[in-house]
Amino acid sequence: MSETCSLCGAIWEGDIHCQNAFDEFLALEFSHAAYGKVHMLTVTCFMIQHQRYSNPALAWMQQNLRDVVENGVSPTDIRTLMTSTVNQKKRGWKVERQPHEYELPHVEWSITIADVYHHKDDPLSYCSWVEHWAEATLEEMSIGN
Ligand SMILES: [Zn+2]
Repeated sequence: MSETCSLCGAIWEGDIHCQNAFDEFLALEFSHAAYGKVHMLTVTCFMIQHQRYSNPALAWMQQNLRDVVENGVSPTDIRTLMTSTVNQKKRGWKVERQPHEYELPHVEWSITIADVYHHKDDPLSYCSWVEHWAEATLEEMSIGN
């Protein structure tokens, strides 16, 4: 039986779904440098496609993605100091989407985490699929501007 993610539209067979695929990716990225170099893109794409970011965070991550995809900045050079409280105070906005924020329009993503998942066994093809995922996400994301 297959299951479709209501947020990103990924189609899964069996016990795998978006969250545990993401957890597997993070485990790979933390333990192997060959995977870890795309870490920023993996997190950003997953968070965007699952509507986890607040509006200000979306705008900020869109800029980060653009720097990587269009301006050739290395993903490892993007400083994603998103989680610390100190930075949150400095920014004045929260990373996580807040209950009062309107629901984002549904997007038919052309590439989802399920597409990348098929390539997780080989770091080279994994990284290039994460890059495709990032390009598609940047192209298709909607933040109301
Ligand atoms: Zn999903």
